[in-house]
Amino acid sequence: MKLLVTGGAGYIGSVVSAQLAEAGHEVVVLDDLSTGHGDAVPAGARLVRGTLRESAFEVLDGAGFDAVLHFAAKSLVGESVANPAKYWDGNVGESLALFDAMRRAGVGRIVFSSTAATYGEPESTPILETDPTRPTNPYGASKLAIDTILTEYARLYGFGAVSLRYFNVAGAHGAQGERHTVETHLIPNVLKVALGEKDSVSIFGTDYATPDGTCVRDYVHVVDLGRAHLLALDDTEPGAHKIYNLGSGSGYSVNEVVEVCRKVTGHPIPAEYGERRAGDPAVLVASSEKINAALGWKPELDLDRMVTDAWAFARR
Ligand code: UDP
Repeated sequence: MKLLVTGGAGYIGSVVSAQLAEAGHEVVVLDDLSTGHGDAVPAGARLVRGTLRESAFEVLDGAGFDAVLHFAAKSLVGESVANPAKYWDGNVGESLALFDAMRRAGVGRIVFSSTAATYGEPESTPILETDPTRPTNPYGASKLAIDTILTEYARLYGFGAVSLRYFNVAGAHGAQGERHTVETHLIPNVLKVALGEKDSVSIFGTDYATPDGTCVRDYVHVVDLGRAHLLALDDTEPGAHKIYNLGSGSGYSVNEVVEVCRKVTGHPIPAEYGERRAGDPAVLVASSEKINAALGWKPELDLDRMVTDAWAFARR
């Protein structure tokens, strides 16, 4: 297939671009490189630098694309609270421009990077796709708005859409890994200590209602996550918008993650226990039964492997 990957220079987009190219697809990456890295685009893919507003139609029109995988997004929760307009414009505005370009170019198949942040604070665990969506920050709200647009566009314009709701993604795929300029995620921050770039890791909150008092999250290896995108592509059906959670059904506490990082790196990784980070729910764990039943997907790579691969990438 000929595929457009928006945000293919970012962490997850670059991994999926590599997997698509390895599977024999023709991949064009559209990325404005505002947070992505040109050298993360795999050798088998072509990079077009531009925003969705400026370039999506130009790239798609008359070029014989079969589908779009849409990763391009602003994705920092804290920044979204400080500057919500950047998220409404950068996520919803840019996505609308992409969907408009797709309509005009006659490309109706899309796999979209949605997020656990669309659910907000869960009422029960593990989270099901049918649970209420009550995002607690503009990032999650903007992603939920895009999901809503896709539901409408499937109904009104015959789009065949699949939204994949990511929980915590970790690990690397060879030369493609997590390289954010502003790094807020736990595992890369812990590994910075092992690399000697930081003296200690801050653990945000020790008084949560969890077995060890630190937050519990559902971690999935980016290679497993990427595999789900290839399955989702084949699952797109004109007129339907399907939503699947991508998690493992179980979680690890922040303390447990740090401990695995100590084991994998052999570094003592000193930890400082501090205040809660605003907006963090105690437990976020996904039910992945829906995607398992529909597409046979389940994660295969464990937390040890995620940290081992992230560590190999961090030392490159
Ligand atoms: N966390 C932490 N120290 C850090 C970064 C994150 O204690 O330096 C905690 C954070 O509060 C959350 C968990 O690790 O409970 C996972 O956070 P991350 O930002 O990686 O992902 P999120 O679950 O927020 O999407």
